[in-house]
Amino acid sequence: MMEKSMPVQTPILTVRDLSATFPDNNGGLQALERVSFEVCPREFVAVIGPSGSGKSTLLRIVAGLLPPTRGEVNFLHLQQPKIGMVFQQSNLMPWRTVIQNIQLPLELEGLDQNLLEAKARELIELVGLQGFERNWPRELSGGMAQRVAIARALIHDPDLLLLDEPFGSLDALTRERMWTELSRIWQARQKTVILVTHSISESLFLADRVLVLTARPGRLKLDLKVDLPRPRADEMRYTAHFGKLARKLKEAIE
Ligand code: ADP
Repeated sequence: MMEKSMPVQTPILTVRDLSATFPDNNGGLQALERVSFEVCPREFVAVIGPSGSGKSTLLRIVAGLLPPTRGEVNFLHLQQPKIGMVFQQSNLMPWRTVIQNIQLPLELEGLDQNLLEAKARELIELVGLQGFERNWPRELSGGMAQRVAIARALIHDPDLLLLDEPFGSLDALTRERMWTELSRIWQARQKTVILVTHSISESLFLADRVLVLTARPGRLKLDLKVDLPRPRADEMRYTAHFGKLARKLKEAIE
């Protein structure tokens, strides 16, 4: 009998030999050293490592916000990739309502108002904020504000979603609820995601692969495939296999 071979995926993004050094008065501070990896379409990749291992620097370089000192980032088949970003703080505009915040990126592109509102409403539903369209940012909890930030990052249908510790400022219970929400949103939207996190559980709950960076300068220490079935539920975090993967990550981080 012929063996069925897995379809080979072409990566959407390749990172080659990336190094980043920041100028200081001591010959330069090296944040990243020769980091290489690939990301396939619709893949969810988490990046984990100790504080100062260059995770945010890596994300900023991929986003095109910071030039690398060495190496390159290539988006295959995409001339001008659309990128959505979410940070630890939601950074909502306090003088705009929930729906106005979500619409902002498309408003800047001059899109028709009706189409804009329809897209924003669709995303409000996706992130579970129906009924809060006209609320002000100050009236939202931390978790709700991050949902708005995720919706805002998705509104221009990005090729790549970059998440920099998006749940880092939330309390533990809200954070865990947001993992389930993000997992659902990712499955519904089929986006390619790179998530920077401090949390081993968060990375395993959400990602297809976890990249571990070493303490400064950040080098790629481990590229771990997360072979846990989807959709993932809370109980999965208490299984032996989850524990085994968590231990592998912990050992690599230490
Ligand atoms: P992480 O996200 O893993 O905590 P960062 O990428 O924020 O790490 O930072 C990596 C290292 O680079 C740290 O030592 C940090 O102080 C330094 N660094 C980050 N951004 C800058 C900058 N703009 N100028 C100088 N040093 C920086």
